Amino acid sequence: MNSRRIMTFFSIIFVALFAAFIVWPRAAMTQQQQTSQKSQQTPTIDEYQPKSTLVTKEHKIERAKFPFIDIHSHHWNPTPEEVDRLVKEMDTINLRVMVNLSGGTGEELKKTVAVMKGRYPDRFVVFANMNYDDLNTKCAELKIPVLIHVAEPSAFFDPWDYRNERWQELKEFPGRARPPAKYPPFETLMAERNHLFAKHPNTNFIAAHLGFHGNDLARLGKLFDENPNVYVDIAAVLAELGRQPYSAHDFLVKYQDRVVMGKDIYEVNEYKWYFRALETRDEYFEYYRKRHAFWRIYGFQVPDDVLKKIYYKNALKLVPGIEAKAFPE
Ligand SMILES: [Zn+2]
Repeated sequence: MNSRRIMTFFSIIFVALFAAFIVWPRAAMTQQQQTSQKSQQTPTIDEYQPKSTLVTKEHKIERAKFPFIDIHSHHWNPTPEEVDRLVKEMDTINLRVMVNLSGGTGEELKKTVAVMKGRYPDRFVVFANMNYDDLNTKCAELKIPVLIHVAEPSAFFDPWDYRNERWQELKEFPGRARPPAKYPPFETLMAERNHLFAKHPNTNFIAAHLGFHGNDLARLGKLFDENPNVYVDIAAVLAELGRQPYSAHDFLVKYQDRVVMGKDIYEVNEYKWYFRALETRDEYFEYYRKRHAFWRIYGFQVPDDVLKKIYYKNALKLVPGIEAKAFPE
């Protein structure tokens, strides 16, 4: 090694040492400072994802305790292959009978009935969709229930401001807002709906989504007391029940004959939240749809007798033509 080479060699070592001892700690420090600076900044609502440190019992329930009927599902024009796959998935979670509310009308309805009910007679019920101009009490005569979706969560009708508890959902889907300039107010819709229920006492109505009174169970109880022909499903409003576990439990026990199981948008992996909420007393767990609920929910475990009514007994009474033998006593 000549002296020049030695110089270069040592220079390289020096540069390496310089990098290791001087530059790197500085970089690290800067990063640390940045992190600490960032932690002192106010995060956006999307950035703030606190991880719960709560240690408590958890029950991951992948399969319902009893076979159940999903009264509120949507499958538009399914193919035979899709229906085959659906049945296999239903079996994994103990979903015995699926009610497809999106049968449509005319030819589409015939096709959907053939591909679902025609091939799996005891696994599906297909509801027809109605032409509203023709709404009358034919259903009372035929003893078939009317599942009806009126309005939206009341928060969608409220000003979309920082006090609105569905702020995030409205940000994601601004079209869901129901401003008074464009839509009738929530209360007007409720009054009209309740008038319909009262006017047709021989027709059984299933008001979808807890009739949008999941945030006011006393009001829903009053609706039940005044209208013996009214039922509700719990589809897509589980977070309403899960944020008030004591009230939800007592409400479901008191009105156990009026509530049916439903899920709405079909996703086999999302039913487990319903099982966990209805069957356990697990606490403070994350909901599956953040835009519906930024809060965590609690299990409100109902007794088995009540669970059976919600899972299948009430639906068996309401919907004609479901084979009851597939369900326990
Ligand atoms: Zn729906």
